[in-house]
Amino acid sequence: MNPEMTGDGSKMQEVRKRWQEHGQPLAEKAQNVLILGHVHPDGDCVGACLGLYHLLTGLYPEKGVQVVLEAFPEEFALLSGVDKVSHDFSAEWPAELVICVDAAGPERLGDGKRFLDAAEHSICIDHHATNRGFAEVDIIKGGCSSASEMVAHLVSMEEISLAAAECLYLGIAHDTGLFRFSSTTEETMRTAGAFLSKGVNAARIIDETYFQKSFIQNKALGYGLLQARLLEGGCVVGSVMTLEDQKKLGAGRNDMDSIIDQLRLTRDVEMAAFLYETEPGMFKISLRSNHVVDVSRIAAEYGGGGHRMAAGGRTEKDPWQVLDELAACAARQMRLSGAPGETD
Ligand code: 5GP
Ligand code: MN
Repeated sequence: MNPEMTGDGSKMQEVRKRWQEHGQPLAEKAQNVLILGHVHPDGDCVGACLGLYHLLTGLYPEKGVQVVLEAFPEEFALLSGVDKVSHDFSAEWPAELVICVDAAGPERLGDGKRFLDAAEHSICIDHHATNRGFAEVDIIKGGCSSASEMVAHLVSMEEISLAAAECLYLGIAHDTGLFRFSSTTEETMRTAGAFLSKGVNAARIIDETYFQKSFIQNKALGYGLLQARLLEGGCVVGSVMTLEDQKKLGAGRNDMDSIIDQLRLTRDVEMAAFLYETEPGMFKISLRSNHVVDVSRIAAEYGGGGHRMAAGGRTEKDPWQVLDELAACAARQMRLSGAPGETD
C-alpha cells in the first residue's frame, strides 16, 4: 500500500507531540492568546482558527482568546464562534502568545503581522510545503491535508467539542476538495469520521458552504469560463478577470474562488491558472495542478507559494502575458518529467 496513504498517522503523532512539548507550555503560560490566519481566509483558515479557538477556550476558560481575521465569505457564518471573530487589525489586542494558522509565511498574515512582531511568544501551525518556519515554535507538516486536520490532532478526540468538530470538519472538507485531493489520507478520513460520530451535520456544511453559490458567484463563474483559453497545445487552461469585469458583474474578491476549481476540471489539462485583479494593476494568481506539475515552484517565481497541487502568487504585469509565461513554466516541468503532452 502507498505509505503516503496511511503514513499520516505518525505525522499526526508528531504534531501532537510537538504541541504537547513545545506549544502547550506556551499556551498554559499566556493569559491572552491571539489567533491569526492568512489574508483572504478560506474554509481551512476559518475552520482551523475557529476550531483552535474552541479548543483553547474549552481547555482554558479563564484565558482571553481572540481570533482576528480579514473578512471572509458569509457562508462560513453557520459555524459557531464566528460572532467572536474580529476583523479589526487596528485594535491593540493584548497577546503574549500569537498562534498563526494556515499561513505559509509571515507575509501571509497581512496586517496581522504586526501582532506577531510584537508578541512575546509565537506558534505557527501550518501544512504548506513552502513554509520555512517563522515562529518560536513551528509545527509544520507539508503535505498534510489541511491546517484543520493538524489542529484536530493537538488534543485527543474526546477533548474536541461538537462546535470545534464542525469548524475542523469544514476546514478539512474545503482544503481536500471534499476528500478528493491526494493529500486525503486514511487518517484524514478517520478524523472526519470521528467528527461525524460527534454529530457534525456534514450534509449541511458541504451543501451550504461548498456547493451553494450566490447568483453573482454563478455569473462570475460563467464569465470566467467564457473567457478561458487553452495554452501550450491544450496542457494548460487559463482565464483572467479584471476589476472592470468584476464591476460589470457586481462581483468582488470572494466571488472569484470557485473559478479556478472549475477550470482545473477541464479534461486533459495538466495545469489551470486564473488571474484576477485585486487592486488596480495588481493581479492575484491562482494555480492548480492535476498531475506532475508542481505549482508551488511556479508560484514562488511570482512572489507566492503554497502546495504542489494548489498555489498562488501575484503580478503587476499584463495578466494574459503572465498566463503565457505560467503555461510555458508548466510545459517545461512536464517535458522534464517526461509526462506526455501535446507539446512533446
Ligand atoms: P488560492 O489559489 O486558493 O488562493 O490558493 C491556493 C493555495 O496556495 C492555498 O493553500 C494558499 O494558502 C496558497 N497561496 C495562495 N496565494 C499564496 C501566496 O501569495 N503565497 C503563498 N505562500 N501561498 C499562497
Ligand atoms: Mn489550508
